[in-house]
Amino acid sequence: MKLVIATRNEDKIREIREIFEGSGFELSSLSEFPQAPEVEETGETLLENALLKAESAANATGLPAIADDTGLFVDALNGEPGVRSSRYAGENVSYEENRKMLLKNLDNVPEAERTARFETIAVLVDEREHFTAKGEVEGLITSEQRGSNGFGYDPIFQSANSEKTFGELTREEKRTISHRGIAFQELLRILNAKYSS
Ligand code: IMP
Repeated sequence: MKLVIATRNEDKIREIREIFEGSGFELSSLSEFPQAPEVEETGETLLENALLKAESAANATGLPAIADDTGLFVDALNGEPGVRSSRYAGENVSYEENRKMLLKNLDNVPEAERTARFETIAVLVDEREHFTAKGEVEGLITSEQRGSNGFGYDPIFQSANSEKTFGELTREEKRTISHRGIAFQELLRILNAKYSS
Protein backbone atom coordinates (compact mmCIF):
# COMPACT_ATOMS: atom_id res chain seq x y z
CA MET A 1 0.00 0.00 0.00
CA LYS A 2 1.26 3.48 -0.95
CA LEU A 3 1.58 6.33 1.58
CA VAL A 4 2.98 9.83 1.21
CA ILE A 5 5.06 11.47 3.95
CA ALA A 6 3.67 15.00 4.31
CA THR A 7 6.97 16.86 4.42
CA ARG A 8 9.92 17.98 2.31
CA ASN A 9 12.24 17.91 5.33
CA GLU A 10 14.85 15.32 4.26
CA ASP A 11 15.91 14.66 7.88
CA LYS A 12 12.38 13.66 8.87
CA ILE A 13 11.87 11.69 5.64
CA ARG A 14 15.02 9.65 6.34
CA GLU A 15 13.99 8.85 9.91
CA ILE A 16 10.41 7.91 8.97
CA ARG A 17 11.58 5.76 6.04
CA GLU A 18 13.94 3.86 8.34
CA ILE A 19 11.11 3.13 10.79
CA PHE A 20 8.85 1.85 7.97
CA GLU A 21 11.60 -0.24 6.36
CA GLY A 22 10.39 -3.80 5.80
CA SER A 23 6.81 -2.86 6.76
CA GLY A 24 5.37 -3.46 3.30
CA PHE A 25 4.13 0.14 3.05
CA GLU A 26 5.55 1.95 0.02
CA LEU A 27 6.55 5.48 1.00
CA SER A 28 6.94 8.58 -1.13
CA SER A 29 7.26 12.15 0.13
CA LEU A 30 6.21 15.64 -0.91
CA SER A 31 9.66 16.08 -2.47
CA GLU A 32 8.24 13.95 -5.30
CA PHE A 33 5.11 16.16 -5.62
CA PRO A 34 6.40 19.66 -6.40
CA GLN A 35 2.85 20.91 -7.05
CA ALA A 36 1.74 20.15 -3.47
CA PRO A 37 1.39 23.41 -1.50
CA GLU A 38 3.56 24.46 1.44
CA VAL A 39 1.46 24.34 4.60
CA GLU A 40 1.53 27.14 7.13
CA GLU A 41 1.67 25.64 10.61
CA THR A 42 -1.05 27.83 12.09
CA GLY A 43 -2.33 25.31 14.65
CA GLU A 44 -1.92 25.87 18.36
CA THR A 45 -1.11 22.26 19.13
CA LEU A 46 1.12 19.59 17.62
CA LEU A 47 -1.98 17.57 16.72
CA GLU A 48 -3.58 20.45 14.82
CA ASN A 49 -0.39 21.09 12.86
CA ALA A 50 0.17 17.40 12.09
CA LEU A 51 -3.41 17.11 10.78
CA LEU A 52 -3.05 20.30 8.69
CA LYS A 53 0.05 18.88 7.00
CA ALA A 54 -1.38 15.39 6.43
CA GLU A 55 -4.76 16.62 5.12
CA SER A 56 -3.09 18.99 2.68
CA ALA A 57 -0.77 16.24 1.39
CA ALA A 58 -3.61 13.72 1.08
CA ASN A 59 -5.66 16.25 -0.92
CA ALA A 60 -2.76 17.19 -3.18
CA THR A 61 -1.58 13.65 -3.93
CA GLY A 62 -4.69 11.46 -3.60
CA LEU A 63 -2.68 9.16 -1.32
CA PRO A 64 -3.14 8.42 2.38
CA ALA A 65 -0.68 10.76 4.10
CA ILE A 66 1.43 10.43 7.24
CA ALA A 67 2.79 13.49 9.03
CA ASP A 68 4.44 14.44 12.24
CA ASP A 69 4.60 17.60 14.22
CA THR A 70 7.30 17.80 16.84
CA GLY A 71 8.11 20.24 19.61
CA LEU A 72 10.80 20.67 22.23
CA PHE A 73 9.27 21.84 25.52
CA VAL A 74 11.75 23.39 27.97
CA ASP A 75 10.52 23.70 31.57
CA ALA A 76 12.63 26.72 32.52
CA LEU A 77 11.16 28.59 29.52
CA ASN A 78 7.53 27.74 30.34
CA GLY A 79 7.40 25.12 27.59
CA GLU A 80 9.08 27.15 24.85
CA PRO A 81 9.94 26.68 22.01
CA GLY A 82 7.11 24.08 21.89
CA VAL A 83 4.96 24.27 18.76
CA ARG A 84 7.25 27.09 17.54
CA SER A 85 10.37 24.89 17.60
CA SER A 86 11.11 25.29 13.87
CA ARG A 87 10.94 29.11 14.00
CA TYR A 88 12.24 29.84 17.50
CA ALA A 89 14.90 32.29 16.30
CA GLY A 90 12.68 33.68 13.51
CA GLU A 91 11.17 32.67 10.17
CA ASN A 92 13.37 30.57 7.82
CA VAL A 93 16.25 30.23 10.27
CA SER A 94 18.78 27.41 10.40
CA TYR A 95 18.85 24.63 12.98
CA GLU A 96 22.07 26.22 14.30
CA GLU A 97 20.38 29.60 14.86
CA ASN A 98 17.56 27.94 16.80
CA ARG A 99 20.04 26.00 18.95
CA LYS A 100 22.05 29.14 19.70
CA MET A 101 18.91 31.04 20.68
CA LEU A 102 17.92 28.27 23.06
CA LEU A 103 21.38 28.06 24.63
CA LYS A 104 21.40 31.85 25.03
CA ASN A 105 17.99 31.87 26.71
CA LEU A 106 19.19 29.17 29.13
CA ASP A 107 22.48 30.91 29.90
CA ASN A 108 23.25 30.58 33.62
CA VAL A 109 20.36 28.16 34.20
CA PRO A 110 21.85 25.31 36.29
CA GLU A 111 21.80 21.73 34.99
CA ALA A 112 19.09 20.57 37.40
CA GLU A 113 16.72 23.18 35.96
CA ARG A 114 17.42 22.49 32.28
CA THR A 115 14.83 19.72 31.99
CA ALA A 116 12.98 19.39 28.67
CA ARG A 117 10.80 17.03 26.67
CA PHE A 118 10.59 16.18 22.99
CA GLU A 119 7.09 15.31 21.86
CA THR A 120 5.95 14.03 18.46
CA ILE A 121 2.40 13.56 17.28
CA ALA A 122 2.30 11.24 14.26
CA VAL A 123 -0.87 10.98 12.17
CA LEU A 124 -2.22 9.14 9.17
CA VAL A 125 -5.04 10.75 7.19
CA ASP A 126 -6.94 9.09 4.38
CA GLU A 127 -10.17 10.11 2.71
CA ARG A 128 -12.33 8.59 5.43
CA GLU A 129 -10.54 8.74 8.75
CA HIS A 130 -7.42 9.52 10.68
CA PHE A 131 -5.20 7.79 13.24
CA THR A 132 -2.85 9.41 15.73
CA ALA A 133 0.06 8.27 17.90
CA LYS A 134 2.28 10.09 20.36
CA GLY A 135 5.94 9.74 21.32
CA GLU A 136 7.63 11.55 24.20
CA VAL A 137 11.12 11.56 25.62
CA GLU A 138 12.28 13.33 28.78
CA GLY A 139 15.74 14.83 29.09
CA LEU A 140 17.69 18.03 29.49
CA ILE A 141 19.27 20.77 27.43
CA THR A 142 23.06 20.54 27.64
CA SER A 143 25.12 23.73 27.97
CA GLU A 144 27.38 22.83 25.00
CA GLN A 145 26.59 21.29 21.62
CA ARG A 146 27.83 17.68 21.35
CA GLY A 147 27.74 15.43 18.29
CA SER A 148 26.83 16.03 14.68
CA ASN A 149 24.35 13.23 14.02
CA GLY A 150 20.62 13.79 13.73
CA PHE A 151 19.26 17.29 13.12
CA GLY A 152 17.55 20.25 14.76
CA TYR A 153 18.07 20.39 18.51
CA ASP A 154 19.69 16.91 18.68
CA PRO A 155 23.22 18.14 19.62
CA ILE A 156 21.87 19.92 22.73
CA PHE A 157 19.28 17.37 23.94
CA GLN A 158 20.31 14.53 26.24
CA SER A 159 17.70 11.96 27.19
CA ALA A 160 17.25 11.23 30.89
CA ASN A 161 18.62 7.66 30.52
CA SER A 162 21.75 8.43 28.56
CA GLU A 163 25.08 10.20 28.81
CA LYS A 164 24.95 11.05 25.10
CA THR A 165 23.13 13.85 23.32
CA PHE A 166 20.85 12.81 20.46
CA GLY A 167 23.56 14.30 18.23
CA GLU A 168 25.94 11.59 19.50
CA LEU A 169 23.54 8.68 18.93
CA THR A 170 23.68 6.41 15.90
CA ARG A 171 20.59 6.45 13.68
CA GLU A 172 19.53 3.12 15.10
CA GLU A 173 19.95 4.30 18.70
CA LYS A 174 17.94 7.46 18.02
CA ARG A 175 15.21 5.48 16.27
CA THR A 176 14.87 3.19 19.30
CA ILE A 177 14.53 5.85 22.00
CA SER A 178 13.38 9.04 20.29
CA HIS A 179 10.00 10.80 20.32
CA ARG A 180 9.65 10.22 16.53
CA GLY A 181 10.73 6.58 16.76
CA ILE A 182 8.19 5.86 19.51
CA ALA A 183 5.35 7.74 17.78
CA PHE A 184 5.83 6.14 14.34
CA GLN A 185 6.39 2.63 15.72
CA GLU A 186 3.02 3.02 17.45
CA LEU A 187 1.39 4.43 14.28
CA LEU A 188 2.82 1.52 12.31
CA ARG A 189 1.30 -0.97 14.77
CA ILE A 190 -2.08 0.74 14.30
CA LEU A 191 -1.75 0.66 10.50
CA ASN A 192 -0.67 -2.98 10.47
CA ALA A 193 -3.71 -3.92 12.55
CA LYS A 194 -6.02 -1.85 10.37
CA TYR A 195 -4.76 -2.76 6.90
CA SER A 196 -3.83 -6.41 7.42
CA SER A 197 -7.45 -7.35 8.27
P1 IMP B 1 8.17 20.45 12.82
O1 IMP B 1 7.59 19.18 13.31
O2 IMP B 1 8.55 20.40 11.39
O3 IMP B 1 7.33 21.66 13.16
O4 IMP B 1 9.56 20.56 13.56
C1 IMP B 1 9.86 21.53 14.48
C2 IMP B 1 11.32 21.72 14.69
O5 IMP B 1 11.68 20.89 15.78
C3 IMP B 1 12.27 21.35 13.56
O6 IMP B 1 12.52 22.42 12.73
C4 IMP B 1 13.54 21.00 14.31
O7 IMP B 1 14.25 22.17 14.63
C5 IMP B 1 12.98 20.42 15.59
N1 IMP B 1 12.93 18.97 15.53
C6 IMP B 1 11.94 18.18 15.01
N2 IMP B 1 12.26 16.90 15.17
C7 IMP B 1 13.47 16.87 15.77
C8 IMP B 1 14.32 15.82 16.18
O8 IMP B 1 14.05 14.63 16.01
N3 IMP B 1 15.47 16.20 16.78
C9 IMP B 1 15.80 17.50 17.00
N4 IMP B 1 15.05 18.51 16.62
C10 IMP B 1 13.88 18.20 16.01
